[in-house]
Amino acid sequence: MKKLIAGNWKMNGSLAANEALLAELAAGLQAGAPCEIAVCVPAPYLAQVQALKKTHAGLAQVDIGAQDVSAQASGAYTGEVSAAMLKDLNCRYAVVGHSERRQYHAETDALVADKARAALAAGITPIVCVGETLAEREAGRTVEVVKRQLAAVIHANGHCISEIVVAYEPVWAIGTGKTATPEEAQAVHAVLRAQLKAATDQSARIKLLYGGSMNAANAATLLAQPDIDGGLIGGASLKAPDFLKIIAAAHV
Ligand code: PEP
Repeated sequence: MKKLIAGNWKMNGSLAANEALLAELAAGLQAGAPCEIAVCVPAPYLAQVQALKKTHAGLAQVDIGAQDVSAQASGAYTGEVSAAMLKDLNCRYAVVGHSERRQYHAETDALVADKARAALAAGITPIVCVGETLAEREAGRTVEVVKRQLAAVIHANGHCISEIVVAYEPVWAIGTGKTATPEEAQAVHAVLRAQLKAATDQSARIKLLYGGSMNAANAATLLAQPDIDGGLIGGASLKAPDFLKIIAAAHV
């Protein structure tokens, strides 16, 4: 299975900055890449990125993702963006349950599961984020927390579960420069893999990404772990040379 390197731009960018970043990325990808690639961009820029894919040949292999999706199909939900709208803009992925949304927008496990279901219903692959806080890790609750978060999504999505991507993102490692060691990350990935295996006989299709201060220097050793199938990259995805180095490290 090819690895997946997905950038999460978070609330960063502008028309000019996005164009410069993607032009640099396109130039670096002219010769191809060893893995699948996605950029998850702020909703107002999805159409711009879609247009840039048409003018930059190097972006042909870069898929587009959103950073969130509504659990609702349509209607009186001011400010929300539906999965059908994302599909209209050729999104392949939508991040759901990022810790910043769980933390700042009080998203519950149940809501995250509903968002994953809405994405799947529209033909969009949800990148389901799970991860423990520092306090939870220190209390020895890592496995309990990530299993609870993933269980909600498994429960709500039945046999469709083989169509999701899972990202293990320890909250204490996101944007902090602290990375889980390859061994720490692998241990949690093995737990998640076993949980998915118990849920579907198609679990081998499910990619398990690691996210949390992955960068050009540490990507290769993290990606070499047997149950790490790629990365969800925040800060380093905003610098084309760094993102390209991570992509280059993601050979099977
Ligand atoms: C993220 O936002 O999903 C993330 C992993 O961020 P960073 O790489 O900056 O830690």
